[in-house]
Amino acid sequence: MRRRIQDEFTDMPISRQRKYQLRMQRDRRCTECGAPAIQGSRCLKHLVKARERQRKKRGLKRRYYGTLSYKLQAMST
Ligand SMILES: [Zn+2]
Repeated sequence: MRRRIQDEFTDMPISRQRKYQLRMQRDRRCTECGAPAIQGSRCLKHLVKARERQRKKRGLKRRYYGTLSYKLQAMST
């Protein structure tokens, strides 16, 4: 019988999803898709997604084009 993945998160009383996120953070990977993280804990794609989600929620009108995610987005298109 194969053993399950055993690491520092295995016995924590948290959800599987939360453990996945913590493991991704530990390995500096995107917490949503597992791709290499650009900044914080997200890849570029999800960095942009998170940014747009926050804009909507807060009703922001301005865009801060100096922000890392915009620069990277411009570079990748
Ligand atoms: Zn991602």
